[in-house]
Amino acid sequence: KNTILLKNRPVGTPQLTDFEFTEEQVPELKEGEILLETKYVSVDPYLRGRMSDAESYIEPFEVNKPIESGIVAQVMESKNSDFSKGDFVSGVLDWKIRQVSTGKDLHKVDPDMAPLSAYLGILGMTGLTAYMGLTEIGKPKKGETIVVSGAAGAVGTVVGQIAKIQGLRVVGIAGSDEKVDMLKSEFGFDDAINYNNTEDMTKAIAEACPNGVDVYFDNVGGDISDAVLFNINQFARMVICGAISVYNETSLPKSVSVQPFLIKKSALMQGFIIFNYMEKFREAIQQLGQWLKEGKLNYTETIVDGFENIPQAFLDLFSGKNKGKMVVKL
Ligand code: NDP
Repeated sequence: KNTILLKNRPVGTPQLTDFEFTEEQVPELKEGEILLETKYVSVDPYLRGRMSDAESYIEPFEVNKPIESGIVAQVMESKNSDFSKGDFVSGVLDWKIRQVSTGKDLHKVDPDMAPLSAYLGILGMTGLTAYMGLTEIGKPKKGETIVVSGAAGAVGTVVGQIAKIQGLRVVGIAGSDEKVDMLKSEFGFDDAINYNNTEDMTKAIAEACPNGVDVYFDNVGGDISDAVLFNINQFARMVICGAISVYNETSLPKSVSVQPFLIKKSALMQGFIIFNYMEKFREAIQQLGQWLKEGKLNYTETIVDGFENIPQAFLDLFSGKNKGKMVVKL
């Protein structure tokens, strides 16, 4: 079986039975096309949104059609003068072992500059999300305190490190003691909180942030974000990047009313989608690449082996099985 389709629109938490493996014929290559072989597949929390048919910033997946996500692939054959056999490319492609593409919206990536999987993480969508959300909305200033939720994931680990480079006190929130240790020992976080064994998150955040919270980079929403809200400072900036804790909810969750906090603290809360900042991607990638080269940025990945394990790897995001970027290697 060489293709993965969306079988059903999941209700609540997605299940393996929402996916179907099929065998699809790879078509003959026409003029202007390239034949690609998948090497690395990115699984991302936002794909959950595309599995529902609710109106959003991006088209929903169609039932009984291949799912797509960020992929790094190798050109096996080319009838397109922009690509040569052997080139590596990245872009949004189908969950297929082999596929034909016109090359539109694919970018060549250099395996000598960074490991191929990095183009799906630190030098790809999640690295860019961390960089753009933090710099454009968080506007961090030296000496301030930032709290990052979903801190041990692909976006969160990068946010914390960039904030550290910029001279902030950095506090992470994650789901296990192992992740808390990793944030402090491998990613330079000043402190971190395991929300799964903390009774009173509001108090724990207050203790970890003696000067209050100036920037909140939110990857999770829900109760964790409510607890941060109680600790924000005057002119705090809250970067609403993701809300994974509510992606599988079937009814609107109850949460604290934010308006009184925003008023009282003259605080800003802004959501964003990374594609708003496309014109700044080149500059951002250059900066991320530079920090990587200088050893100022570190990254980690959870690499799952095998095409057949893509759906499970996706599901595992919702139980926090990953540290850093979750990718599947073929
Ligand atoms: P991650 O690598 O952070 O993986 C998801 C992590 O979320 C898990 O490891 C888990 O860690 C945590 N998690 C899962 N369920 C819950 C829950 N109920 N409550 C709290 N934490 C939970 O994913 P990404 O870095 O790729 O994405 C992070 C967030 O950023 C997502 O919400 C995503 O949708 C969003 N995003 C937004 C973009 C944009 O353009 N706005 C672009 C890219 C991503 P733990 O063990 O700590 O619970």
